[in-house]
Amino acid sequence: MTRRTKILATLGPATDKPGVLDSILKAGVNVVRINFSHGSEEEHLSRVKAVREWAHANNTYIGVLMDLQGPKIRIASFKDGLKIQLNDGDQFALDADQDNLLGNQASVGIAYKTLPQEVKPGNVLILDDGKIMLEVVNIVGNKINTLVIQGGVLSDKKGINLRGGGLSANALTEKDKKDIFTAAKAKADYVALSFPVNGDDVREVKALLLEAGCEAGVISKIERAESLKEEVILDIIQESAGIMVARGDLGVEIGDAQLPAQQKRLIKMARSNDRIVITATQMLESMIEHPIPTRAEVFDVANAVLDGTDVVMLSAETATGKYPRNAVKTMAEVCIEAEKNPIAKVSDHRLNKQFDNIDETIAMSTMYAANHMGVRVVASLTQTGKTAMWMSRISSGIPIYAMSDSVQTLRRVTLYRGVYPCGIDKTTTQDWVEVNSNVLDTLTKNNVVESGDLVILTKGIHKEESGGTNMMQIIRVGNTVNKK
Ligand code: PGA
Ligand code: MN
Repeated sequence: MTRRTKILATLGPATDKPGVLDSILKAGVNVVRINFSHGSEEEHLSRVKAVREWAHANNTYIGVLMDLQGPKIRIASFKDGLKIQLNDGDQFALDADQDNLLGNQASVGIAYKTLPQEVKPGNVLILDDGKIMLEVVNIVGNKINTLVIQGGVLSDKKGINLRGGGLSANALTEKDKKDIFTAAKAKADYVALSFPVNGDDVREVKALLLEAGCEAGVISKIERAESLKEEVILDIIQESAGIMVARGDLGVEIGDAQLPAQQKRLIKMARSNDRIVITATQMLESMIEHPIPTRAEVFDVANAVLDGTDVVMLSAETATGKYPRNAVKTMAEVCIEAEKNPIAKVSDHRLNKQFDNIDETIAMSTMYAANHMGVRVVASLTQTGKTAMWMSRISSGIPIYAMSDSVQTLRRVTLYRGVYPCGIDKTTTQDWVEVNSNVLDTLTKNNVVESGDLVILTKGIHKEESGGTNMMQIIRVGNTVNKK
């Protein structure tokens, strides 16, 4: 059975071990994530190369998403790598003037030097993804004195978040600007932008990508409290190819209890704006250590599928975990089962919407027909993948084949729910009979359809060389004029 929801898996030391990359790709990874927060340029490029070689050898398309680190705010280090125990009620200070390597039981340095100017007494600072909480008592010079309100063990370079958000750190750091060139070198299909505050951050990264000659689509990670405001999030979504519900940092900023409602809202907003949405972080967290997931994790993945996510993501589960293949296999199985639920297939989306242009109208009409008639597949001849994107915003059980001679487009659609890339030789002819038989031959050769199946085909038939989709046809395999 074909899975519609896509799997994005993070590469790391665990997938560098012999045979592991092959095993996770075979288990169903559609797109890999290269995390700029860890590893060298050389490592990143060699991982991308390995993935592209695997895809080529296996006659398939795997997307590459490169994730910029962004302004993750961290504490500095402790003397001799010490781990300290903080207890409820202890006093502890974050001191911008302290030596970066000399943290101790009383205080530790911070890499983000303006933090003392940006917090107020009463603010809650959250360390290490929520494990430790500090309440700001006062600020003396560059030193933030705090009271430990939730204790725990603290060690080098743990992340700091401000409950409620609002830190002014720019979304793009100097390191990110350098990494954009690595993404260009790697011909990344997607670049993820961490911690965008608003649409301006997305516009900035797009300008830099253009300058670097990188054609990647931008995935904006939603992980700041202030980016959730209606008009802000709408601007971010519309500027991006897609968004990531980055539940790790977002949960820390807004409180985990608010996450499920936000996840549903963000998925809905992305879909109704014709954008991709990825659900990320801790989906199968316990599988970092264990070969099977918890039942709650199974429900989490399934619920994201039912919410309508395009993609579910694995982080440490594949990058550093003990059971990368099991994690992918589990995710794939859970997605397939969740997709059998009728609510995953029914769509009342846009019944009362005006369409903006011809391509979108054809895409919507096609999905209406597909959902109301027993066709085997929808096949969309597409230069840019846009028609396939529109189609995939409509919930359906019918597979959508994006057929293109552009490798870039074929790799890009790997993140679209229900869309499968299918390479096709360039058709120079405008003769629709020849175009149809080329499509049906290709689908038959790939074992997607067989004689007697109905296919809905969309294409652009124009007087000029090329143009947008303006035609939809329903054809039966074996019934067209075939040259063979
Ligand atoms: P990260 O982003 O893994 O890069 O932190 C995802 C998240 O915050 O959930
Ligand atoms: Mn994050």
